[in-house]
Amino acid sequence: MSGIGGVFRGTKNTGVGLATTLRAFLGKNITEQYPEYKHPVMPRFRGRHKLHLHANGLEKCVGCSLCAAACPADCIRVVADENTPDNRVSAGERYAQVYEINMSRCIFCGYCEMACPFDAITLGNDWELADLNRDQMIYTKDMLLADPPTNDEYGMDRRAPTRQGEGLDSATPVWLEETVAREGAQRRRSDRSRRA
Ligand code: SF4
Ligand code: SF4
Repeated sequence: MSGIGGVFRGTKNTGVGLATTLRAFLGKNITEQYPEYKHPVMPRFRGRHKLHLHANGLEKCVGCSLCAAACPADCIRVVADENTPDNRVSAGERYAQVYEINMSRCIFCGYCEMACPFDAITLGNDWELADLNRDQMIYTKDMLLADPPTNDEYGMDRRAPTRQGEGLDSATPVWLEETVAREGAQRRRSDRSRRA
């Protein structure tokens, strides 16, 4: 009995499949004129990465390598260096001197974005990534850096409030100042306990 039922189900499913094919065959053709027309993607589509800047132009990335540690494809390379008064690149103590993503290995899982404590890296909506040369698929920091966010009508980067509103001359976001201070205190505490 189950054998006959299976035959009926199979025939019915084949009929449904053929009807779908016939509908598409007789329906109106849809031709998209790529590259003149680019089909819009969903807002949460995960495409080419962007490294973000603060409104004052400093890089958000502090070279902590958490994104590289979280990447299951092992395609991110970060080499960190110290900021100095003469060469301040990021708002933290360190910055990414080298930041590279090997796009030919990336699986666009978004783990790097989730691992980043400073929202420095996000996956954007750009999906035109094909290339004929594998070397060109290694995206450097210059290629990944996005434009700084534009201030809103009140002159504030709302995603990163600073103490400028309190009359202080600091364009560093409050949360980043606090994080850097907390990390510094932790480091000093662990240095002291190592020496003891
Ligand atoms: S999206 Fe996933 S695979 Fe691609 S760089 Fe980020 S963590 Fe790695
Ligand atoms: S992008 Fe984020 S997680 Fe990766 S090194 Fe920079 S600050 Fe750290």
